[in-house]
Amino acid sequence: MISVFRNKIGNLFARFLIHTGSVKRACNKLQQGDYMLSLCFHAPSKTFFESCIDWLSKNGFHFISVNELEQIINEEKPFPKGAVVITIDDGWQSNLDNIVPIADKYKVPVEIFVSTEVVEKGHGYWWSYIVASRKAGLSNQPVEFFKTIDNADRIRILEETKTRIQLKREALTIEQVNEISKSPYVGIGSHSVSHPILPRCTNDGSRHEILDSKEVLEQWTGRQIKHFAYPNGDFSNREISFLKRYGYTLAFTTEQKYLTKEKLANRYKLPRFMMVENATFEENICRIVGVWPVKPQKNKVVYP
Ligand SMILES: [Zn+2]
Repeated sequence: MISVFRNKIGNLFARFLIHTGSVKRACNKLQQGDYMLSLCFHAPSKTFFESCIDWLSKNGFHFISVNELEQIINEEKPFPKGAVVITIDDGWQSNLDNIVPIADKYKVPVEIFVSTEVVEKGHGYWWSYIVASRKAGLSNQPVEFFKTIDNADRIRILEETKTRIQLKREALTIEQVNEISKSPYVGIGSHSVSHPILPRCTNDGSRHEILDSKEVLEQWTGRQIKHFAYPNGDFSNREISFLKRYGYTLAFTTEQKYLTKEKLANRYKLPRFMMVENATFEENICRIVGVWPVKPQKNKVVYP
């Protein structure tokens, strides 16, 4: 109820900012400066995703793929004006109906960062078990707690939870990953094997998450996998050195900033704006063009 009320107020304010020209002025500033927009979706509805793409297209932005972004980083292409990079994290089943047809319809390149274990095993994402367990009154620890503990402890509690909670498949299937990777507008990247908090893993654990997800996705798609998105945006220097060692050429964080020339200098720390999919698209537009304050991430831990 509170979130419905909050969304109504937020939407009214966002519409006010759009109609009074604040958003248009912010767009012009962005498009004339050395800024690229880098957006991260998860499991948006088709209407939400299409509204965002449609709005950005009609307001002077153009879309580039992560491969093109890589060429810009390599200085094989000039830094563009008004460019947007679209990324989608996790590999949700709903992406098949809500993202892929829109990418094809608008000829918009997107890159889906897939966690492989949930695709392979056909269960829910790990945090869904925690949420379901709390709803069923079986535990009271929130998802955020599980991001702060050792990965081995998280897995142990999760396995116990899975014996009491059954969830249906939430991710794409292997066949679907293969199928969508054939679209000229869909790229596939790695989002680790099991979506852990990487700095909470052992050295071997972190290596496995980064290397094995790459190999598995290459098998499934028949394509080279070169891009990575850190689960929950968490990483340390160790993860960056594994990414370099195993042939990844860039990685996305969840730092909510624009892609600038300065940011491109750190190709394993590329920022992205997180789309808030339970708010309206108008509010998100205000947020990404900079006329609405971006909420700082809660409980964000900085790793060495
Ligand atoms: Zn994720």
